[in-house]
Amino acid sequence: MAILRFDIEPLLPLFTNGFTLLTPNNRGVDGILREYANGFRSSSEPTKSWERPAVFAIDIYMQQLWQLAASQGIAPFSETQLLSRFDEQETWLQIVRSSYEKYPLLNSEETANSVARSYRFFQQWDVAASGEVERYRNAIDFQTFLNWSEQFEARCKKISAVSLSDAGRVIAEHIEAIKPILPNKIALINFNQPPPLYVKLFEALARVCDVEWQRVAAQDTQLGPVFAGSDSAYRSFQTNGAEIDACIDWCQGKAREFPDSHIGIVVDHSRSLEPMIEEALFRNSKASNSRQFELVDHLNRYHSTESLAELQDFSAGLSLLGLNYELIDSEGFCKLLQLPNLVGAKDELQARIALEITLRGNTEAEVRLTQLRAFMLQDKRDHHCPVLAQALLAFSELARHEPSHQSLRQWLQLFGRQLQLLGWPGSSSTEHNQRQSLLWQQCSQRFAASSSVLGNISLSSALGKLQTYLKQSNVNLNFDDRRQISLVDVEEAQDLLFDHAWILSVDDRNWPQAINPVAFIPYSLQQELEMPGSSNQQQLDTALTQLNSIRQNTKAELVISHHTLEEELSIRPSALLKEIAFKQMHVSEVIIGRLSSNRIINNLERHEETLHVPLLSDEQVSGGTGLLSNQSNCPFRAFARNRLKANGLEEFSYGLNSLVRGNALHKALENIGLQLGDSKTLHSLPPTETEELLRKSAGIAIDYLRERHPETMTPAFSSLEQGRLTNLLEGFLILEKQRSEFTILHNEKNVSWQHSGLSLNLRIDRIDKLSDGSLALIDYKTGKFTNYRWFDDRPDDLQLPLYQIAVSADTDQTVSATLIFQLNAENIGLISPMELTDFGVQVKVSRQAKSFEGGWPALQDYWNRSIHALVEEFESGLIAVAPTRGTLTCQYCDLGPLCRIAESDQSQILLSEDEI
Ligand code: SF4
Repeated sequence: MAILRFDIEPLLPLFTNGFTLLTPNNRGVDGILREYANGFRSSSEPTKSWERPAVFAIDIYMQQLWQLAASQGIAPFSETQLLSRFDEQETWLQIVRSSYEKYPLLNSEETANSVARSYRFFQQWDVAASGEVERYRNAIDFQTFLNWSEQFEARCKKISAVSLSDAGRVIAEHIEAIKPILPNKIALINFNQPPPLYVKLFEALARVCDVEWQRVAAQDTQLGPVFAGSDSAYRSFQTNGAEIDACIDWCQGKAREFPDSHIGIVVDHSRSLEPMIEEALFRNSKASNSRQFELVDHLNRYHSTESLAELQDFSAGLSLLGLNYELIDSEGFCKLLQLPNLVGAKDELQARIALEITLRGNTEAEVRLTQLRAFMLQDKRDHHCPVLAQALLAFSELARHEPSHQSLRQWLQLFGRQLQLLGWPGSSSTEHNQRQSLLWQQCSQRFAASSSVLGNISLSSALGKLQTYLKQSNVNLNFDDRRQISLVDVEEAQDLLFDHAWILSVDDRNWPQAINPVAFIPYSLQQELEMPGSSNQQQLDTALTQLNSIRQNTKAELVISHHTLEEELSIRPSALLKEIAFKQMHVSEVIIGRLSSNRIINNLERHEETLHVPLLSDEQVSGGTGLLSNQSNCPFRAFARNRLKANGLEEFSYGLNSLVRGNALHKALENIGLQLGDSKTLHSLPPTETEELLRKSAGIAIDYLRERHPETMTPAFSSLEQGRLTNLLEGFLILEKQRSEFTILHNEKNVSWQHSGLSLNLRIDRIDKLSDGSLALIDYKTGKFTNYRWFDDRPDDLQLPLYQIAVSADTDQTVSATLIFQLNAENIGLISPMELTDFGVQVKVSRQAKSFEGGWPALQDYWNRSIHALVEEFESGLIAVAPTRGTLTCQYCDLGPLCRIAESDQSQILLSEDEI
C-alpha cells in the first residue's frame, strides 16, 4: 500500500468536470499530482501513462498566463515583461545603493530585501487603495519607502516591465482581454486567508469564468474539543538533544512497526533543530538489526536550505569560472585540481597531486593564472600538467576576445563555452552529468532574462551576479513516495496527512510566534489592514489554526513536546497546551519506546595495536636534526614524518611567511660571515664599508625573496623589506662587535653524523673559532621562542645537541659552546644552554642550567646518551602516539588527523605550571 500524504478524494470530481486547480504554493501542486498519479498506479488495472491534470501554483499560473497573452499579442502583456524575483531584488538593490548619499546604510543588501518584502505586502494588501497612505506619510521610514517605490515603478516603466507583485492587479484589470485564453472553470484550493489583491483577482476571474472557491470553515478556537478523544501525548525534556533523541527513537519505531504509515516530524519556522535531527537520524542509521535504517531511504523534506551555489557540481562550476578573475584563490584552485571531471584528470592524476604540493610550498594565497600555468609547464618536474595548462590558456583566450562590457546573456554564453572547454560537468554518458548540464542550462536561460535589468556589465560583475543568483535559488526537493518520515515546518505540515506525528519545541516562543511586521509600512497601518504577523491576536489565531489542523490531519498518535533548557535559558511550554487534556504517559512507556527502537549497539571489532614497527634491514631512512627531534617529541611523529613521509598540506598565506623570511635572512647572514671572516676585520671596517656590507647583504635576501614572490615584492614593498633587514643586520653586527675575538671558520656547513644504521645530514649556520682555539657552534633563529628544554629527558629541540656530537666526531678541536643567535624585531641576542665565560657579550642562559649538576662536559655527555637512546628507539620502530608534553607538543603538529590524538586520553595530559 502506498503512503498517503494528501487527501485527493474531494478533488477528483473537479478533474472529471474539467476544472483548472489553483493552489497558493508548489507544495499543494506536488501533493495533488503525486496522489493523482498514485491512483493510476495502484488501481486494479495499472495505467502507464495519463494526462497531467491542470493544477498550478498561483504565481506560476500568473506567469504562464502572462506569457500566453504576450504570445497572442494581447496588450499590455505583449508590450511588457514580468520581472523575476532576482530582477526585482537587483532593481531594489540599485535603488537603495543610489540613495547612499542620503541614507548611508551599513548593509544595502539587507535593506533591499526588506524593502522588497514591504513592497510585496504593500501591493498584495492594496495599501494604496486603503486611503490611509497620506495619514502616515510623515513617518520618515514610510516616506523613504514611498520614495523608493516611486523610483522602482519608474525603473520598471522605463524597461517596460512589471513586478510579480503587480502582476495580479494588471491581470485583474485586463481580465476581459484575456478571457479567450482562460479556462472555463477554475477551482481555488486552500486559499483560506488570501491577501486582498488575490481576492480582487479571484473576483475578476469569477466575472469571466466559472470559479469554485473551496474555503475551510472558520476553525474552532478551542483546542480542547479538537484534541478530546484523540490519541495525543505531551512530553517534556530538559534539553533539545534529549527531546530530539526521543522523537527519533519514536519515529523509527513507528516506521518499523507500520511500514506503510506516513510519519511527520514538525519543527518550528526557524528550523534550527533540523541539523540535530539529521545527525540523530544518522547516528541511529547503523542500528544493529536485520533491517538497517538509512536516513536517505526514509527522510523526506520539502524545504532545502541548500542553494544551487552549494550543490557540489555548481560550486565546482562557479570555482572554474572564478579562474577568469585577475587573482585566483590558491586554496580553491587546489580543490579544482582534485576534480575527477576536469579536463585530462585521469592522465595527469599524479602530476596534479604533485602540482598541489608544489603550489603550497611556493605560492601565496592568491596567484595569477599565468603563474599557475608557468608551474604546470615545467616539463622536467613531477608537476608537469600540459593538458590542463593548454585548456586554461584556451579558457583565458575565450574571455580575452570578448568586449569589456556586454549583456549578461552574452557573458553566460561565454561561461557555457568556458566550462565545456574545461570538461565541466564531466562526460555526458552519465545520467548525473546530463542532469547537471541540463539544470545549468535551465538556470542560465532563466537568469539570462535579467539582461535587460542589468544592462551592459563587466565580466567580474557578471560572475558576481551569477553567484548571487545561484545563492538565492534554493534546490528544489520533491517528496519521494517511498520515504516514510517527513521533516517539515509548521506551515508545510498544514498541507499533509499523517498517520503519526511529533511536534517539537512547542514552547512559548513558537506557539504563538512573536509578531513579525514588515519593516517599512507603519506598524499600526499593518494592524488596521490585518496584515499577517502584525498583531499578537493574529499570531494566536494562526497558532490555534495550525495546531488544530495538524491534529485533524493526523490519523493516529500525535506527540507534542518541548524542552526546558537552552544553554542557561529556561524555556516554558506553550500556554496553549493547558487547554489540552493529554493522555498520561508513563515512564515505562517511554523506556519501552526507547528499547524497542533498537538504538546503536556497539558492534565494533577490537584490534590490538602494535607498538613497534622495526626498521627493515634494507630500509633507507634519511633526515636531519628534525628526525631525532621528532622522535624525542613524539615517536609516532617520527614514524609518520620520517618513515611514512606523511606531511600535512602546507597552508597558503598572504605575503611572505615566516619560513621564507627566515631563509632570506640566513642568506644575508651567510654573506656577512663570508665577507668578514673574523672579528678583527669587523672592528677595522670603516662605517661606509659597513654600510655597504649591510646594503649588499640585505640586497641578496631581497633578490631571494623576489625570485620566489615576484607578486609581493613590488618596488615599494622591497624597499620596506630592505629597511627591515638592514636594521636587523645592523643589530647583529653591533652585538658581534661586542664579542671577544673570534674567527668564522664555516658558514652553512654541511656535516653528516652516523650512529648504528642511521645517518643524519646536518647544516650548521656558523662555526666560529674562539681565542682559546675551541669551537662555538651557532644557529640563527628568527622566531621569538626562547624556552628551549635542553635538559629534559626528551629535549624538544635536538639541533644544538646534534651539532656538538657531529662536530666533535668530525674534528679534533674541542667544542666549547653551542648558541642560538636570535634575530627578530623584538630581540637580537644570544641564548646558550650553559653559562659562558670570556664571551665578551651578555648571553641568556637556559633556566634549567641552574638545577643541572655538572658543567659543559657533563651536559655533552648527557646529550650524547639521550641522542643514542633516541636513535635506538627510532630503529626499534617505536610508534607510540605519545606527545612528550601533551597538547603543547601537538600544538604545531599537523599529523593530528593521522594519529587521532584528539580521540585518545593522551591529549588530556596536564601541562606543568611554567608551560602554562
Ligand atoms: S599531533 Fe601530537 S600525538 Fe599526533 S603525531 Fe603530532 S605530536 Fe604526536
